[in-house]
Amino acid sequence: MASITLKDINKTYPNGVSAVRAVSLDIKDGEFMILLGPSGCGKSTTLRMIAGLESITSGDLMIGPNRVNDVDPAQRDIAIVFQNYALYPHMTVVDNLSFGLKLRGVEASEIAKRVKRTAEMLGIQPLFDRKPSQLSGGQRQRVALGRALVREPQAFLLDEPLSNLDATLRAAMRTELIKLHRNLGTTIVHVTHDQVEAMTMGERICIMKDGEIVQVGHPMDVYRNPVNTFVAGFLASPPMNLLGGRLEAVGDESVKVHSGSIAFTIPAAMAKGFISHAGKPVTLGLRPEDFYLTAESARHTAPVGVEVITTEVLGPEVILVASTGGENAAEIQVRMPRDFRASPGEKVMLHFDLSQIQIFDITTTRALPRVA
Ligand code: ADP
Repeated sequence: MASITLKDINKTYPNGVSAVRAVSLDIKDGEFMILLGPSGCGKSTTLRMIAGLESITSGDLMIGPNRVNDVDPAQRDIAIVFQNYALYPHMTVVDNLSFGLKLRGVEASEIAKRVKRTAEMLGIQPLFDRKPSQLSGGQRQRVALGRALVREPQAFLLDEPLSNLDATLRAAMRTELIKLHRNLGTTIVHVTHDQVEAMTMGERICIMKDGEIVQVGHPMDVYRNPVNTFVAGFLASPPMNLLGGRLEAVGDESVKVHSGSIAFTIPAAMAKGFISHAGKPVTLGLRPEDFYLTAESARHTAPVGVEVITTEVLGPEVILVASTGGENAAEIQVRMPRDFRASPGEKVMLHFDLSQIQIFDITTTRALPRVA
């Protein structure tokens, strides 16, 4: 097992594309780290540089205490699992699992032992004699994982390994991978553009955009305290509602929020970080789950009147899609209890939990400090 440290890593491809810029990240020994971001943000390039499949333009890559920028991929003791599995099509499952170890000159008895143990862990023994073409997507995925596991490497790099699976299988494999990590305790770096995978699997998430790291943190920290509107809008489904609005000073210490026909006051105790932006346009961030149908005495809520556009009855909950009305009306999504029903055009009074409001600078897109 090993830590993986990236210090000020840059990657410019020969065609001039600057794919990764000034990336610094400490991945702890045994940590499950997620690289999350939209397509093209540099996740795979970062992973491939760690694996040694792509050269590093500048910066230092350390595995454990050693700088490995110029170390051959085979010498890095790291296994990578690709989205397309990359199994050898002409070999049976058992040969696919054993081949890498044979190449490394591992003794036959040791190979048999490791292959058996790994196959048991993944439940793929019954498939030993099949070729990859005779396997389902999920089975291929297990074999690809198995091939990485038998090597018992210092770290696993997973490049969107679940994205070719259907939703049910993907959920099952998420759980399997979490269990595997718990059992093995090996460092894992997992690349995904799927925020559900990131929230559920990662011990920490590193969110990337345009080749740069935007935020690193525990899933709930990043979720609760997104540093900017990009992170706020990227995590969770439905994501945080981001509405154009402006702040107005009320006395010296509190502010009034305006957006569409929404207007409410944030009391002094909660407004400290926002006062600096009184009189300015801002972006308001309201999570869909922070609205209530009644003003609960335990929470400091603000009334938000909306007009129903539609409702999506999902079973465990209902997503209300509504308009904030007035000039600059915006569409918002709100999580409602499962028995909530409303017709298009109906006016509904919601109550927003003010302790959860997030306000962003409109120019820098960065979050203003919120009173905890
Ligand atoms: P992600 O994994 O987040 O989708 P990538 O790391 O694959 O992103 O790509 C980052 C950027 O680098 C993109 O703009 C992509 O087009 C570019 N890129 C990726 N591979 C190459 C390559 N071999 N040559 C030139 N540009 C590349």
